[in-house]
Amino acid sequence: MTTALRPYPWQQGLWDSLCRLAQDRRLPHALLLAAPEGMGKQRFARAFSAWRLCQQPVADQASGREGACGECRSCQLLAAGSHPDLLWVSPETDGEKVSKVIKIEQARAVVDFANQAAQLQGYRIVVLDPAHALNTASANALLKTLEEPGRDSLFLLLTDQPAALLATIRSRCQLLPLSVPAPEVALDWLRGELADAASAAILLGLARGAPLAAAQLADSAWFKARSELLADLTAVAAGELAPLTAAGRWQKMDAGEQVTAWQSLLDDATQLAMAPDELPRHHDLRAGLERLTATLAAQTLLEALWQAVEARRLLDTNVQPQSILETLWLHWGRETRKRPAGGHHAG
Ligand SMILES: [Zn+2]
Repeated sequence: MTTALRPYPWQQGLWDSLCRLAQDRRLPHALLLAAPEGMGKQRFARAFSAWRLCQQPVADQASGREGACGECRSCQLLAAGSHPDLLWVSPETDGEKVSKVIKIEQARAVVDFANQAAQLQGYRIVVLDPAHALNTASANALLKTLEEPGRDSLFLLLTDQPAALLATIRSRCQLLPLSVPAPEVALDWLRGELADAASAAILLGLARGAPLAAAQLADSAWFKARSELLADLTAVAAGELAPLTAAGRWQKMDAGEQVTAWQSLLDDATQLAMAPDELPRHHDLRAGLERLTATLAAQTLLEALWQAVEARRLLDTNVQPQSILETLWLHWGRETRKRPAGGHHAG
């Protein structure tokens, strides 16, 4: 019985291949774990670090699968977040501002760390999370150490944007690609995580198959409110609700979440208008989506989707979020109420 962290079910294959490499003493000293967001890269990195640092790793008799014991001095230090031989490097926070880059000073600290002897007579492990946060200067500072790390130093680089890494960094690492799991593996796990298991398949589809992203989505404000938003979009299009009244009703929800909901619903509605036989991603809302698309041309929906994309872009500028949302609703009201019968084009 152990309390040590283990990889997620969909990471097991990758874990096993690392176990075999370690047993053959062929574990590369620099690993690049590349996977989309929401795949559990950090859990994998924590479990991996714990295993390599553990003073008495345990092995499963049947599978030969190894893992940390969860009890030794090293495992205890890790659990307390104070292991002297693990350096986890992420962009730093300056006051309230979160930096997007791993700075050169941090890279130099990594080099120093990797060149020192381990304090617990095991490995020294550096996790770069995410590795694409290395800017050119930081990356260059690390090249030599990545090429020839000190004895028993291990680098684990995490990224969801492998193409954004400098080629010189990529080429010094063994790539560990982690692709989205088979739906049944993901759903099996996801159903155990959700309060309402019935929405598991919808969430997984919206999260493009990434299980943790799907679990997170279940808690998001926009996912919970999507049915209500669809009803208001339909009411405005039908002329039953004034656009600005609708905007007022949604004022309390975070603007970014609202725009995400708009994009997701309009994306589905556009798809449905163009390919009515395909299952929408929000398939529990199919009837509502069909009501919406029944009176609107695909072109109108597509243009509304573009407006939502534009709204997303504007949210990163200094424009007031409330005015961005009001414009979105007004545009929606204006475009959806044009009818070919009235002598206008539908969009
Ligand atoms: Zn241990």
